[in-house]
Amino acid sequence: MLVGGLVKSSLIDYPKKIAAVVFLQGCNFSCPYCHNPEIVNPVVFKPFSEEEFFSFLKNRINKLDGVVISGGEPTIHKDLYEFIKKIKDMGFLIKLDTNGTNPEILKKLIKDKMLDYIAMDIKAPFDEYETVTRRKVNTDNIKESLNIINRGFADYEFRTTVVKGLLTFDSFVKINDSFKEMKKIKRYYLQKFQKSKHLDESYENRTTFEDEEFLKLEKLFSDTVEFFMVR
Ligand code: SF4
Repeated sequence: MLVGGLVKSSLIDYPKKIAAVVFLQGCNFSCPYCHNPEIVNPVVFKPFSEEEFFSFLKNRINKLDGVVISGGEPTIHKDLYEFIKKIKDMGFLIKLDTNGTNPEILKKLIKDKMLDYIAMDIKAPFDEYETVTRRKVNTDNIKESLNIINRGFADYEFRTTVVKGLLTFDSFVKINDSFKEMKKIKRYYLQKFQKSKHLDESYENRTTFEDEEFLKLEKLFSDTVEFFMVR
């Protein structure tokens, strides 16, 4: 497995749990606001040893509740299933962060009860996906992943990063329209764009929505989402 980084203990990445976060290298998207360029861009990859990661985890049994598998995009890795199984067999809860491009692996992981929590990004309404991710996107896969999680998985969140200009109020109207065709969404988080290092350095000066705009969005999603939060 291409491990690109590790946060040894976090209280904020797995709801109500103390968890380590492991970042797997590589991504099939190229979102300009991505704040993990060293994980996504092969030119600046800094590999981390898998052995080192597992020996760290061995020492954290009964001290950590879980492990967050993040990226990059974890599902692009052929050995993801075995990697997760190995962690699960050590007794840790597993949270998977994904962009939803690989519904088949998601289905298999859910069916075999390998996942305890899923956080899936919704990058944009389906017709704006390629603009936001700067990649060719099969949005049928995204729809399928959303439906698999929404229909059959107990503990999940969907989330969208809000960069002013990249997404507009109308973008969210379209996302809400797609929510209307689904079971009520359990949790939907809007993540304010934060200034940090970005995949596209020109994003340094971008901003997020104003508070009033977020309030309008809260109203917009009030019928389709059980728990809505801006963070
Ligand atoms: S923000 Fe985009 S480019 Fe960065 S890891 Fe997530 S999906 Fe990949």
